[in-house]
Amino acid sequence: MDKTIQTNNFEETQKIGEEFASHLEGGDVLCLQGDLGAGKTTFMQGLAKGLGVTHRIISPTFIIMRKYEVPRIKNQESRIKLLYHIDLYRTATEDDLKGLGIPEILEEKDAIVAIEWSEKLGLLLPKKRWELDFEWIDENTRKIVIKKLT
Ligand code: ADP
Ligand code: MG
Repeated sequence: MDKTIQTNNFEETQKIGEEFASHLEGGDVLCLQGDLGAGKTTFMQGLAKGLGVTHRIISPTFIIMRKYEVPRIKNQESRIKLLYHIDLYRTATEDDLKGLGIPEILEEKDAIVAIEWSEKLGLLLPKKRWELDFEWIDENTRKIVIKKLT
């Protein structure tokens, strides 16, 4: 699935995230790239909803990582149990990433791991991943490009 989408308000971006959740399976890693305010966290709010997570999704910038349980009801087939929402904006070194347990989390087969500022993963970046690029077009317009890399 390679896709370019334009959204005209934040609700539309949430809706895209909500729909995208249905394409995911346990072990998927999502790399969300784009400047501050481009819509990465907004997309994650919809994605979490699509997975059945009712918890309010707020930016993990200051605490770097949040972990949510994915309720079983939405996932009778797939084995998704956890959603990690990670924001590496404030991390600097590979030691930071190791200290957070990121290498192990990236291997979890029953989790979705969504990472804002994934550029900072460096060599830890898995080959198999979804790449989602967010671009600010104007105050209410965003361009989202979704690619599946294998
Ligand atoms: P990021 O996580 O990429 O830094 P956020 O999702 O936190 O960005 O912030 C995006 C901001 O832009 C929010 O305040 C949101 O309401 C606003 N916004 C306006 N239009 C859109 C749109 N089409 N898609 C997503 N966010 C939008
Ligand atoms: Mg964010």
